[in-house]
Amino acid sequence: MLNPCDAAFVSHLAGLLPPGRITAPEPRHLEEPRGRWQGHAGAVARPETTAEVAVVVRACAQARVGVVPWGGGTGLVGGQVMVDGPAPLLLSLERMNRLRGAYPQENALVVEAGMILADVQAKAAAVGRLFPLTLASQGSCRIGGNLAANAGGVHVLRYGNTRDLCLGIEAVLPDGTVFDGLTRLRKDNAGYDLRHLMIGSEGTLGVITAANLRLFPIPAATIVALLAVPSPAAALDLLALAQERLGGMVSAFELISRVGFDFLAETMPEVRAPLDPVPEWMVLVELGLPAGLEPEVAMANLYDAADDRGLVSDGVIATSGAQAAGLWQLREMIPEGNRRVGAVSSHDISLPLSAIPEFIGRAPGELAGLGAFRINCFGHLGDGNLHWNVFPVQGAHRKDHDPVREKVKTRVHDLVHALGGSVAAEHGVGRLKVADLARYGDPGKLAAMRAIKAALDPLGIMNPGAVLG
Ligand SMILES: Cc1cc2nc3c(=O)[nH]c(=O)nc-3n(C[C@H](O)[C@H](O)[C@H](O)COP(=O)(O)OP(=O)(O)OC[C@H]3O[C@@H](n4cnc5c(N)ncnc54)[C@H](O)[C@@H]3O)c2cc1C
Repeated sequence: MLNPCDAAFVSHLAGLLPPGRITAPEPRHLEEPRGRWQGHAGAVARPETTAEVAVVVRACAQARVGVVPWGGGTGLVGGQVMVDGPAPLLLSLERMNRLRGAYPQENALVVEAGMILADVQAKAAAVGRLFPLTLASQGSCRIGGNLAANAGGVHVLRYGNTRDLCLGIEAVLPDGTVFDGLTRLRKDNAGYDLRHLMIGSEGTLGVITAANLRLFPIPAATIVALLAVPSPAAALDLLALAQERLGGMVSAFELISRVGFDFLAETMPEVRAPLDPVPEWMVLVELGLPAGLEPEVAMANLYDAADDRGLVSDGVIATSGAQAAGLWQLREMIPEGNRRVGAVSSHDISLPLSAIPEFIGRAPGELAGLGAFRINCFGHLGDGNLHWNVFPVQGAHRKDHDPVREKVKTRVHDLVHALGGSVAAEHGVGRLKVADLARYGDPGKLAAMRAIKAALDPLGIMNPGAVLG
């Protein structure tokens, strides 16, 4: 049984820390991007050092007060907002945003968990390297949150998830112990790898305080194109063709449907689609090339080879950095268009690549009898990760479908599961998908997860209610 973060605890905690570290929650701490939940908290702790984080967590353990780690508050599954139960302490990492070291020769960068992702990218660029994690939320999410959620984004195809971009972790465990795993080693098989336990644990196993991140060479040239494809199956063939011809130089491969542009036209009429007529299906392709290869030639050759095979029907190749940024901006506006239309149900799913055409073909039929809907299917096709989101038809409102929302989600997720996919692809479980994890998770894995949670956090203070419920 947990205790609330009440006035007596707040004053006790404030006495253990330098002045100003404990403040009242602001609205931004209790809201989340989709406006689905309103969180509550007794106070916000804003430590400046790992030692201060340890003091906070130890005090919470002693008093049995729940702790919800908070990065930038951009998570999409409610992991950072606690809605019910005794008011927790919110632990914000925002003041822990220092660079601890840059090692370009080692392709490594050591930063504190509260550094904004865009600042991590800038620190890497300042030493002539690339930190490839790229998300539309990069101006406000923090690297500790990215690690805790094992965020994906648009460059996973080439560089991997956040998990793949991390060499070492420093964290405070639920009893206040500091785990110093900030190694810069590429090989270290000395025992269990706690780094990978902390990554993706969504604040349920401890607080990530710093990380050693992997850096990469900056491609000599980058080129972006928006290509019309006849179908999702053709898009997958195009991906295979691009990888055969260009290997690991394909940095991003995003699927976009016409519905995404329909929504932009409805909600942001000033936005112009670059292809006319807007095709049913498109892919946004980014190539990152080493010195010696002409980017326009590489993309044009790919287009010609795809055209010969009937895999493309139209396209626009960006010929300047500004045009490339414009194409990416359109891709990144799609979630905003979705938000303005208002989804009945959103699904962050992944599938084996070869099952994607079958899923896209079958999924609308699964909703038969539940109402009239529009589907916006888009996402990181190269990773098998789709955002398959269900919307009301024009003139209707998402609320009209409240009675069937749960059924919509279950039918979509059942199909994903039957096709060997995951219903929590890149956004995590948080509070939104606790029941889904219980329903679709492998029983052996769930039992091991519960045992790990009980061993590391026997009092259940870390992010109560998230992931395992
Ligand atoms: C516009 C937009 C676009 C997005 N695009 C993508 C995308 O392409 N790919 C993708 O994967 N995600 C995407 N996301 C969601 C994504 O998960 C987050 O943007 C980001 O990874 C979360 O970081 P944050 O700092 O905001 O974490 P928060 O939202 O604050 O927290 C997320 C979770 O991590 C925990 N947590 C936070 N910090 C720590 C820490 N230091 N230690 C332990 N636990 C911690 C929290 O308790 C919570 O459970 C998007 C979100 C938005 C709003």
